[in-house]
Amino acid sequence: MVCVLFIFIIEDMNIQKYQKIKHEIPENVRLIAVSKTKPESDILQLYELGQRIFGENKAQELKQKHENLPKDIAWHFIGHLQTNKIKYIIPFVHLIHSIDSFNLLKEVNKQALKNNRQVSCLLQFHVATEETKYGFSFQEAVEMLQNPEFENLKNVSIVGIMGMASLTDDRSQIRREFSTLYSFFEKLKATYFKGKDSFKEISMGMTDDYDIAIEEGATLIRVGSAIFGERNYNI
Ligand SMILES: *Cc1c(COP(=O)(O)O)cnc(C)c1O
Repeated sequence: MVCVLFIFIIEDMNIQKYQKIKHEIPENVRLIAVSKTKPESDILQLYELGQRIFGENKAQELKQKHENLPKDIAWHFIGHLQTNKIKYIIPFVHLIHSIDSFNLLKEVNKQALKNNRQVSCLLQFHVATEETKYGFSFQEAVEMLQNPEFENLKNVSIVGIMGMASLTDDRSQIRREFSTLYSFFEKLKATYFKGKDSFKEISMGMTDDYDIAIEEGATLIRVGSAIFGERNYNI
């Protein structure tokens, strides 16, 4: 009797790629494993390999995953945050990358105060050509930082900046945008965060461009699909 066995292996996660990225990034750069839309079992698999920083972009999804998964995971919020969703993540979130308005920062401060926490945040800048990407212009950020109200926000701590490059194959354009982000960081550091050692993070670079981001000074890279496989938003 001939027995033919078909085995379909759906290998979504790419552990080898994960190990490769971990191995190749410099010591001063930390990898955020972007697990949005992916199951908790995938997160646990990376957790077992030592990964402790994960990124999510939906408040309720993040809350659920935080409840179900090990408590020593540092959860980073990387998506657009609506003010009415802040409460879901504020008790535990490690770093909010996506502060894109003064109003949002004030609301985060309010919720952080309620929870008796000091919450670390990054200012998100708009450097891409697409209209749809959220973020401050440099001028808008300066206006906020100069506003006397900013000084009163005692329960948030601005520890750096974040940005996304344009969705393009033009790597020199991506490099220019990351370089612009780096120059924003330097200018803010010299003017508004002088002597503040905590202001030190530059979050930039994803699956397709993290290598350029590192060359341009990233300290945090946010990598999803290279590690977890393509996302399917239709299910
Ligand atoms: C989804 C997402 C990422 C990860 O994107 P990949 O291309 O899958 O690596 C990084 N940053 C932000 C803000 C995201 O929303």
